[in-house]
Amino acid sequence: NYRCRSAFKLLEIVDKYRLLKPGDNVIDCGAAPGAWSQIAVQRVNSTGANAELPRGTVIGIDLLNIAPLDGAHFLSSHDITDPFTHARLQDLLPSAKADVILSDMAPNASGCKDMDKEKLITMCLTLIDLSEKILKPGGSLVCKYWDGFLAHTLQNRLSAVFGCVRSLKPKASRKESAEKYFLGQMYKRIK
Ligand code: SAM
Repeated sequence: NYRCRSAFKLLEIVDKYRLLKPGDNVIDCGAAPGAWSQIAVQRVNSTGANAELPRGTVIGIDLLNIAPLDGAHFLSSHDITDPFTHARLQDLLPSAKADVILSDMAPNASGCKDMDKEKLITMCLTLIDLSEKILKPGGSLVCKYWDGFLAHTLQNRLSAVFGCVRSLKPKASRKESAEKYFLGQMYKRIK
């Protein structure tokens, strides 16, 4: 049982693009209540449930509290846009590097859709800074955004550092919602 229906959106994406392999180190941004982390734990074998496969790591971050989950390390009350959080992640990751960054983050609704869209894009742009610090060359990023005029800015910034960038609308995402996901693969920026 998943903690949240959002699980089905991630399952579609990881199955279609073969993301999250046993042994992968994964960061889950905006992880509460924890459904995406549940999928990551199973796929990367972070509990070591399958002794024959490599064992990965899952670290989830949220402003809110996240109830404990076997196989995941949660940083509750942490802001992923804060460089302090980036430093904590570097400390926690094996060799300070991640294979995959997931983000289903969303800001609190302000009542103004354009402002909310812009806020989410700004939050996603900080994931590019985070990638520079922790993402392995060849790594992947999945991030939620709300479609609108600034989405192109984000897409261009992602295309500068990922070999392949796609915009995805999972079937499990409501048609009426502007919600979409960017999938960046083959990370190429090394710092
Ligand atoms: N993927 C999650 C799951 O499957 O359980 C659901 C995520 S929910 C749609 C979005 C989350 O993003 C909220 O819990 C919110 O607190 C978090 N969030 C928003 N801004 C954040 C930030 N700056 N840093 C960390 N988390 C943030």
